[in-house]
Amino acid sequence: MRYVETTPMLINGELVQAASGKTLDSVNPATEEVIGRIPAGGPADVEAAVAAAARAQVEWAKTEMDERAARLRAVAARVAERADEILQLEVRDTGNTISKMRGDVGMGIKVLEYYAGLGLELKGSTIPASQDHLHFTLREPYGVVGRIIPFNHPVMFALSRMAAPLMAGNSIIIKPPEASSLSAGILAEICRDELPAGLVNIVTGTGAEAGAALVRHRQVKRLAFIGSVPTGLAIQRAAAEVCVKHVSLELGGKNPMIIFPDVDPEVAATAAVSAMNFAWQGQSCGSCSRLLLHEDVYDEVLRRIVEKTEQLIIGDPLDPQSQMGPMNSRMQLDKVEHYVRTAHEDGARLMTGGERPEGRQFERGYWFKPTVFAEVTPQIRIGHEEIFGPVLSVFRWSDEQEALRIANSTEYGLTAAIWTNDLNKATRMMRGVKSGYVWINGFSAHHLGTPFGGMGNSGLGREEGIEELLSYTENKTVHIKL
Ligand code: NAD
Repeated sequence: MRYVETTPMLINGELVQAASGKTLDSVNPATEEVIGRIPAGGPADVEAAVAAAARAQVEWAKTEMDERAARLRAVAARVAERADEILQLEVRDTGNTISKMRGDVGMGIKVLEYYAGLGLELKGSTIPASQDHLHFTLREPYGVVGRIIPFNHPVMFALSRMAAPLMAGNSIIIKPPEASSLSAGILAEICRDELPAGLVNIVTGTGAEAGAALVRHRQVKRLAFIGSVPTGLAIQRAAAEVCVKHVSLELGGKNPMIIFPDVDPEVAATAAVSAMNFAWQGQSCGSCSRLLLHEDVYDEVLRRIVEKTEQLIIGDPLDPQSQMGPMNSRMQLDKVEHYVRTAHEDGARLMTGGERPEGRQFERGYWFKPTVFAEVTPQIRIGHEEIFGPVLSVFRWSDEQEALRIANSTEYGLTAAIWTNDLNKATRMMRGVKSGYVWINGFSAHHLGTPFGGMGNSGLGREEGIEELLSYTENKTVHIKL
């Protein structure tokens, strides 16, 4: 296995190390081996990146849409060329299984191409406000955008979330997740080769140093964050202390999947297990980690879920046969173990898992078995707090109002999945759930072009559709006296 010497950051079109010279170790969560190092960027690096980004943005905003699109497509093409290299590194760095992570790289490319085609949608409007004027609006870029990314899909988020701000005429500074930043080094090389110097800057490092410096920089008027609710709140507070900023937040979830009794138990069980996203060890904001089973099918569906969960193949995430890898970090593993302890204390019934797997292969690494708890209620901790791990909480319900009460009983409101063949019931539930993204007889899939984002504390703003593109612009209203 190749050891990655310290990956570069990208500042002003150059591959650089942190000004402080400090680095952070990157650990393979499957083996606990140090597999590389990343620069521990800090305020000085953010300062240099913002200065470069501000300079580059002036020219970029004058660049024709065709040219902007061509540059994004060139990045996408280079990523496609190096897809396998990125994939191997990303899997070793995150612990996510290779068969699913292939889709992550593909999605990054697809989103770049999608936004590359949307430039001419950056339209203003004309308003018939008076006869003696021409009134219209223009969409202008914010300038320098800061993008902070979580550990579960590092390369996908870095690629896909640079597309809209760039297409809208902004420059950008990306802060990758410190636990899984190795792939950002490859992106740094690609962006250096394909984009004007300073347009995309990548500053690695911790949230407390690199992240906080970006949040608190006055010239970064537009901030976009994907991560946990506590960090999102901290970012809103810190940003507000500095100046007025447009902050968008894609935060955590504790997503309900509601199963009605008319659904075939086998179909329901298969969907529930798939919707846990065990291929990411449940470390997915969209995992349906709360399963609400109607009492008539509760025992039958639960039995099948336990059977299916126990058949999942846990193993080397680089092996295409593996259906589950290790948790991303020691911290994530500790968090999962903490929640399993609370579940026992709070009286939930362990159906399967709840411990680390046994065997030589699992002696090192942050492994945990896929876990199912039954008889969960909204009051207990695993009933309403996001674990971000492979733990499914199963609830029982008997009437629709009760199902809705349970579904809406957390601070979150990211996604919901409703399963029934009755259109009226599905529609009533869809209207009742406080979630930003709802599947009826589906789960997990993101359909490009459809806005994704959360209600409640799950977020602010929508990504993955035209709204995301427009959110990187400010309206300027103009009145021409005739
Ligand atoms: P996190 O909040 O711990 O960290 C996310 C990023 O923020 C990292 O890059 C980190 O370095 C940075 N950061 C931390 N503190 C900071 C600070 N004070 N100032 C600036 N930056 C700071 O989240 P995580 O553990 O990496 O990711 C898991 C969380 O992300 C889960 O809650 C998950 O649900 C959420 N998530 C949401 C979505 C979505 O689309 N809604 C997608 C993926 C993950």
